[in-house]
Amino acid sequence: MALPSEVRRPESGVEKTAAFAELRARALACVKCPNLVAARKTVVFGVGNINADLMFVGEAPGADEDEQGEPFVGKAGQLLTKIIQAMGLQRGDVYIGNILKCRPNMPAGTPGNRKPTPEEMKTCIPYLHEQIDLIRPKVLVALGGTAMEGLLDKTGITKLRGNWHTYRGIPLMPTYHPSYLLRNQALPEKRRVWEDILQVMEKLNLPISEKQRRFFLSK
Ligand code: URA
Repeated sequence: MALPSEVRRPESGVEKTAAFAELRARALACVKCPNLVAARKTVVFGVGNINADLMFVGEAPGADEDEQGEPFVGKAGQLLTKIIQAMGLQRGDVYIGNILKCRPNMPAGTPGNRKPTPEEMKTCIPYLHEQIDLIRPKVLVALGGTAMEGLLDKTGITKLRGNWHTYRGIPLMPTYHPSYLLRNQALPEKRRVWEDILQVMEKLNLPISEKQRRFFLSK
């Protein structure tokens, strides 16, 4: 049976690259949220390998990402890069995207970030759905509670993390957002995230050394 046109998958690599470029162009020109459009410097579409087996989904760009147009390049991003490298991979081996493509605007002169509103998430999520439909990763990792809310409408990351979920047939592992780990550097929290990542590595049949298995275990 033919799939409806909106979920038709490109058959060749060339078609996929073209479909991804068209999607990117559409997202970069998006003006659906006037408050975000007025405040943004860039639209942060996503980065990485569009044929990746593994895709990470975060919340929304922060100030560094808005400046550079790339997800996860600030402090939390540097920690995510370390996690990817601890898996034996590079950033270019995976795909990294966000629920929101624009930085949630803050009142003038107010530092920091805010969580996207439900309305902003609802408006932006179709772009992410299309990204995932095109990439078709073997495994998704939801980084933090907002990613889980956006992808599966589930709340309570503390209970959700560490257990497999399914997003449109793709195994999805929720774990804590790297910015949570920056705020809470306790070894057991780092170990919890690492155990989630070990499950992801097992699912992807990535080699795991004894040393990797023991990361963040106290001696
Ligand atoms: N936090 C996110 O969730 N996404 C980014 O791109 C950067 C920080």
